[in-house]
Amino acid sequence: MVDELISENYVLELGQMPSNGVGRRPVQLQFNPSVGSVIGVELAVDFIKVLLLDLSAHVIASHEEAIQDTQNPHEVIRQMSSMMTSVIANAPASPLGVIGAGIGIPGLVDSARGIVLNAPNLGWKNIELCSILEEALQLPVVLDNEANAGAMGEQLFGAGKGVANMVYVSIGTGIGTGIILNNQLIRGQGGIAGEFGHMTIDRNGPKCSCGNHGCLETYASEKAMIEHFQRLTGMRQPFTQIAALAASGDKNANLAIETAANYLGIGIASLVNGLNPALVVIGNRVGPTADRLIETVDNTVRDRSFTEPYSPASIRNSSLGHLACAIGAASLVLHEHFSGPHV
Ligand SMILES: [Zn+2]
Repeated sequence: MVDELISENYVLELGQMPSNGVGRRPVQLQFNPSVGSVIGVELAVDFIKVLLLDLSAHVIASHEEAIQDTQNPHEVIRQMSSMMTSVIANAPASPLGVIGAGIGIPGLVDSARGIVLNAPNLGWKNIELCSILEEALQLPVVLDNEANAGAMGEQLFGAGKGVANMVYVSIGTGIGTGIILNNQLIRGQGGIAGEFGHMTIDRNGPKCSCGNHGCLETYASEKAMIEHFQRLTGMRQPFTQIAALAASGDKNANLAIETAANYLGIGIASLVNGLNPALVVIGNRVGPTADRLIETVDNTVRDRSFTEPYSPASIRNSSLGHLACAIGAASLVLHEHFSGPHV
């Protein structure tokens, strides 16, 4: 059996280990991550990122394009499919080839049926994404919410490696969370758990893209930071500009980020009270502002969480950064492939 795996390149011989005095000297073996590759995709509100990874999630190729027309799902799917086709065509030859593709989406998904149920920031409803892409690419395609994918990526390969109880908080245009308890991604009854971005902070607050009022993401997302900055200065700037201003010491940019971070801390204190994670990883596009953001969030959580003095949660920046979602989406494929009946 081992000889077969070696001859087919599934495992590599690392050399002989010291003899234990009985029989043949044992040989140290290692799974060969180059035996195949996998695709991880992040579909964001304004861009598509496609990664080709080996089976230990090392990036072989990366391709990103801006989305021209988000509100037209079929045009976006066509663009995504063409990017994936080109990455597959350029994948290095390997015994297993490209084994599948995983996609992270900002919205509610039915991952069992491969359907985007509702992605308000994209304007998508009931899109059968997996079956469309499977037909176009002739590959298995899996789908999950981008924060769930990010949580899987960080737990398997990033800041949460080896942490059994953690929450990944993804801050982009909106806010999503991926919850891992006892090493299991928590999906809930309908597969859509983790929408803490839509936790009500103020019942009379601003209208949210979900239709409710005063949701956490209207106070603490990237979009909220743009609005805090506009209120302070009268100027509307893209988030990247606000992050650059904050880094150069601009008072208003820093105040806008701190205001958002305070609200985020209030939301995360509730998560910490409710779920008792060992770790909260903050990720997605807030990377450039992460240090200031995390310091304020950390202070707010310590001040406000009832459970914090007894079982503190550490608050950390994502270590996979902007790749967390795509790497996590790819890891869903690895999970399906290597736990399925065909292995
Ligand atoms: Zn909402």
